[in-house]
Amino acid sequence: MMKTIKANELICPYCGAIYSEKEIDFEENKDNEMICKNCGRTYNYNVHISYSSWKKED
Ligand SMILES: [Zn+2]
Repeated sequence: MMKTIKANELICPYCGAIYSEKEIDFEENKDNEMICKNCGRTYNYNVHISYSSWKKED
C-alpha cells in the first residue's frame, strides 16, 4: 500500500517520528533514502521546494 504523507516536516512513514530540517543531512541522502533514527527502518522521501513570483502592481 502506498501512503504518502505530505507535511512541512519530514515524518517517518513507519513510526511517525518527525525530523526537522536541521536533523536531515541532505548531502548524505542524495538517493532520497532515510534510515529512521527512531525505528531503524528505511524509507524514501521527496523534498519539494518551490518558488512563485508575480508582477507587482504599479
Ligand atoms: Zn521511524
